[in-house]
Amino acid sequence: MLGGRTNHWGRISLRFGPDDFKHKDIDGLGENWPISYDDIKPYYDRLDKMVGVFGSKEKRRNDPDGFFLPAPKPRLHELYYIKGAKKAGVDVIPSRLSILTKKLNNDRGVCFYCAQCNRSCTAYADFSSSSVFIIPAVNGGGQVDLYVNSMVRTVTTNDEGKATGVSFINKEDRLEYKLKGRSVVLGASACSTARILLNSKSKQHPNGLGNSSDNVGRYLHDSTGAGRAGFVPALMNRKTDYNEDGVGGLHVYSPWWQDNKKLDFPRGYHIEVWGGLGMPAYGFGFNVSDLNKHIGGEVGGYGDKLRDDAKRFRGAVVGMAGRGESIAMRDNRCELDSDVVDQFGIPVLRFNYKWSDYERYQAKHMQETFEEIIHGMGGITLGDTPTEEQDWGLLKPGQIIHEVGTTRMGNDPKTSVTNKFCQLHDADNVFVVDAGPFTSQADKNCTWTIMALAMRTSDFIIEEYKKKNI
Ligand SMILES: Cc1cc2nc3c(=O)[nH]c(=O)nc-3n(C[C@H](O)[C@H](O)[C@H](O)COP(=O)(O)OP(=O)(O)OC[C@H]3O[C@@H](n4cnc5c(N)ncnc54)[C@H](O)[C@@H]3O)c2cc1C
Ligand code: SF4
Repeated sequence: MLGGRTNHWGRISLRFGPDDFKHKDIDGLGENWPISYDDIKPYYDRLDKMVGVFGSKEKRRNDPDGFFLPAPKPRLHELYYIKGAKKAGVDVIPSRLSILTKKLNNDRGVCFYCAQCNRSCTAYADFSSSSVFIIPAVNGGGQVDLYVNSMVRTVTTNDEGKATGVSFINKEDRLEYKLKGRSVVLGASACSTARILLNSKSKQHPNGLGNSSDNVGRYLHDSTGAGRAGFVPALMNRKTDYNEDGVGGLHVYSPWWQDNKKLDFPRGYHIEVWGGLGMPAYGFGFNVSDLNKHIGGEVGGYGDKLRDDAKRFRGAVVGMAGRGESIAMRDNRCELDSDVVDQFGIPVLRFNYKWSDYERYQAKHMQETFEEIIHGMGGITLGDTPTEEQDWGLLKPGQIIHEVGTTRMGNDPKTSVTNKFCQLHDADNVFVVDAGPFTSQADKNCTWTIMALAMRTSDFIIEEYKKKNI
């Protein structure tokens, strides 16, 4: 799909901070990146100006400020969240989302606060790479040829082991074709790129392209995630005739605020907030009438009773989601499944990924914090507190969809797949521009860093072309 997951992502656009690139120096775990914040900062800056992101200058050491458009003000449920968080000692700042709150150029409109970003924006005020990058590139100068409905099977190589192009399946006629290129840039997402590389076996690359060190697919890691919701009786019977419009996402969030020296787990997490006057919900997993049990009301009913419940309780549930940093482990990996192929006969991936206590204790801390915040809002926690047997509600690896690290970068070809410019150690005309090269994840969502790194790699490729190195 053109634009991949940025068609329906959350648009939370956070920079990694200086500590995130050198966390091994702080706690001895994982590996440092071969680059620092200063190497990537100019690209974050360019991205902010080119794509647009709202936020606020906060001068927080590990949550660097960018070039921000004005942030929308907190809505009522977010004001309650701020109140609860303050009591729990948790920092709250305006969120940082790639949505235009001010005009950036003539191709894109300004957000009119319809809160429907997940249905795609008719004004192109939100960022999706399809509308903001690909369509303008195709219309702009005829420099781009698109091959849609095409599935890359392998990177083809020559006798010297260099890439010569790709072979791909046209999903319409189901035939295989070849494309030739001076270099190959893979951006199929961390796991799909690992799959392509592992499937690209040749005499020169018997373990798959870029895999002489047996690291392709390894060090796969996702963000940690756990959530909780609370019912806030003070938010019942809300008037609906005042303006509570907003973007289709959070207006405030809590960046990591703690010092790990005082905690029993490494790294941190941030908190995303949800709630407000969305469409009243009823159905699987949520029956608004259930909330009656917390205020001595009658649970159940339909017709007028259900309509009345939907109105009384609308906007009275506030939820939180923690998204944190896990430690990259060599044995957490994806690899080719020797028994299973897809409909085109291409071997698929199988996964081996286990959380450790580092991540479990982080989830425990999330749950304790969420409960404190809900109580601080004057709210009642919904559902039971997840137990140790339930890993304190820690979601399964892969569920947060921030998979990174499968072609990690490093200076040593024995322990890494790409160098600091996301260039394969084993074939210098192959580059990876998704989250594969991430050495570690940080307690932030990964996409702003994927894009900044991709821009840096593009500059590098142009320079290498000019020097005739590739
Ligand atoms: C619901 C949701 C919410 C999210 N919210 C956020 C957020 O708020 N902030 C954030 O930072 N991140 C968020 N993410 C994560 C974010 O979407 C991803 O990190 C990001 O899109 C990854 O970009 P990518 O280009 O590497 O991969 P993708 O977006 O997955 O794009 C890869 C593309 O390659 C194509 N492809 C794959 N294999 C092949 C092949 N063999 N041949 C040809 N093409 C191929 C795919 O079809 C796709 O178009 C969210 C993800 C989801 C699903
Ligand atoms: S809320 Fe989202 S979909 Fe609506 S105008 Fe703003 S960016 Fe577009």
